[in-house]
Amino acid sequence: MLKNQTASPDDAPPLQFVKGIGPARVKALAEAGFRTPESLFFHLPWRYEDRRADLPIEALIPGAQVALRAAVAHCRVIRTRRRGLTIVESHLAVRLSKGGQALIGATFYNQPWLGKSFTPGRELFVWGRLERDGRPNQPSLKFMNPEIELSDGVADAEGTSGIHAGRIVPVYHRFAEIAPRKWREILHHLLPRADSIPDPLNPLAKKLTLPPLAQALRAIHAPENPLEGETIAASLEPARRRLAFDELFFLQAGLLARRERFTRESGPVLPAPATGKLPFTDLLPFELTGAQKKALVEINGDVASGHAMHRLLQGDVGSGKTAVALLTALRFAKDGKQSAIMAPTELLARQHLRTFQQWVGKEARVGFLSGELTAAERRQTLKAIASGWFQIVLGTHALFQEKVEFQDLAFAVIDEQHRFGVEQRLLLKEKGKSGLHMLVMSATPIPRSITLTLFGDLDLTLLDEKPPGRGKVVTAVRSPAARGKVDQFLETEMAAGRQVYVVYPAIEESALELKTVTEGAEELRRRFPRRKVGLLHGKLKEAEKTTVMLDFAAGKLDLLAATTVIEVGIDVPNATVMCVEHAERFGLSQLHQLRGRVGRGGAKSWCILLPGDEVTEEGRVRLEVMEQTDDGFRIAEEDLRLRGPGEMLGTKQSGVPEIKIADLSRDLPLLEKARASAIAYRAGELPFTPTGKAQIEQRLRDLWGDRLDFAHSG
Ligand code: ADP
Ligand code: MG
Repeated sequence: MLKNQTASPDDAPPLQFVKGIGPARVKALAEAGFRTPESLFFHLPWRYEDRRADLPIEALIPGAQVALRAAVAHCRVIRTRRRGLTIVESHLAVRLSKGGQALIGATFYNQPWLGKSFTPGRELFVWGRLERDGRPNQPSLKFMNPEIELSDGVADAEGTSGIHAGRIVPVYHRFAEIAPRKWREILHHLLPRADSIPDPLNPLAKKLTLPPLAQALRAIHAPENPLEGETIAASLEPARRRLAFDELFFLQAGLLARRERFTRESGPVLPAPATGKLPFTDLLPFELTGAQKKALVEINGDVASGHAMHRLLQGDVGSGKTAVALLTALRFAKDGKQSAIMAPTELLARQHLRTFQQWVGKEARVGFLSGELTAAERRQTLKAIASGWFQIVLGTHALFQEKVEFQDLAFAVIDEQHRFGVEQRLLLKEKGKSGLHMLVMSATPIPRSITLTLFGDLDLTLLDEKPPGRGKVVTAVRSPAARGKVDQFLETEMAAGRQVYVVYPAIEESALELKTVTEGAEELRRRFPRRKVGLLHGKLKEAEKTTVMLDFAAGKLDLLAATTVIEVGIDVPNATVMCVEHAERFGLSQLHQLRGRVGRGGAKSWCILLPGDEVTEEGRVRLEVMEQTDDGFRIAEEDLRLRGPGEMLGTKQSGVPEIKIADLSRDLPLLEKARASAIAYRAGELPFTPTGKAQIEQRLRDLWGDRLDFAHSG
């Protein structure tokens, strides 16, 4: 279903010359993006039905869904007087495997025209559900309103195969106002044209022992019989892989094209530090990890190059991404240029603000912009940003807004990316008047296949080392029965001066009878009457949220009942226990994020997962994974395997063409190959003919449209 697929030569016959497509359909197809007959090949079946019609007698049992080859043995047309119904009642002589035969009834309501076609001896395919017929003098089995295909034409007269039966048939989705059955007919008639589809990637596919495109398309639209014991899907796997390879190649080639444009953009030059020492590190209350140093060296190289940086900084929860952003922003500030650091939530942005003020507040003027400022505050802040007074500005989405004008923005950080789409990334770019260096930071580790898809246009730095001196986090799943013990444990921790998070899945009463966070807070107050309990959820006013969070950070609260608003980035080192109610309902990466809220100080910490009474199989697997590993990258891969890529990619896949054939949860090796090929192609290292090249470029344009030019608009 690659609807934008094209690339048929200009002299290709237009759509209306395809058998089965009239002017009305041409219009609907064009609106759906199909412009050439060849493009129709990329409306792919979503499943297959085995209608080979070669069954043994044992298969004929009531209730069975069967496809059979038959000849009309007898037929009569009955018109009911009372309701004016026409009933066609027939007996079909069906042909079974190994020369077997049987007589089966077939009754059709309200299809009077069948009476004329059902002459004795007429050959047909019939398929539907068999029912028992208890009437005397009738075959013991019958079909009620089965689907049929009359055998017409030469091939069928020889009893070979049909379109809708007599073979393994592809099943299509209704699309462009064309019914599934019609799609099958159209593609059947189109099949001989498969060879005229340009196949510029064939030399690459060949090296990977993948079939030519035409062969793959023929297999997908008209599968041959699988081998003995092989499933249809397995027999089609080489064809699927071929189509997936093309899809991934064009995805990667587009991303790389975008990246090349990025690298051609100029960026403000910040000369590399003179000696090997990284500047300003002594402002931090800790020694940088090796990974942080490496990241800074890479970033320093980027910003000294004269080209705009576009880098993704990925690291596990707590790997210290903030410090990397902060030191870079400070270097720009000292050079007289501005930085913007954007976080996805008010809470997190405010937390960054505190960190920055604490660490570099004496070295640079730090501002804050969010939707929660009063009109007067906002006006003042905007003015101070525009005049260049604020050297480092922290904030939320509000930083994207048109009215926000910087005096000289040189460096932008998007924290917890993958909540921000590509468009937003590119919007922010336009705020840098003389080029903008951009650092994108991911909240949780992302599986490599997703990284390559969503961020394949960025350079990648991995923070693959956690700061030393972190307490170990023990993860334990506790059943509802163990609640008393859990409470005792929480009490011990709090008595030792530690703090506890309890996270709930919903805010208010919900149909699912989940524990809600407000009820939860009340319950905690009952269970721990001597402890101070705070409540935090997304529906609170921002000011309230901030107060609660500050109180918790300052140790004024022992327990915090919260929703997942605390999932992202919150940093309170004295908190040592994370309890998650209804833990089975959270996704893996969410649980990992939540767990990352503890173990931030030196003390040993706990993540206690409290499932409800009913846990699905998948929920149980998630809890097990959490107990087994705290490696964020492994958890991300596991999450992808369990949930599929849909949610991770987001519905619009943030500015890249939709992936329809490849499966990112298992096609990573193919994706790596497609990316390597795309890199070689962009570098001009592949010996394509001029025609091949033109075809590739054409298809890239068709697939990506103006998404490739986005970086240049405005
Ligand atoms: P994340 O990568 O999840 O955004 P943060 O930047 O919030 O992580 O850092 C997590 C915690 O670790 C913070 O309290 C931060 O001050 C601390 N930290 C960062 N780098 C180091 C380091 N090199 N040594 C010790 N602590 C560090
Ligand atoms: Mg962070």
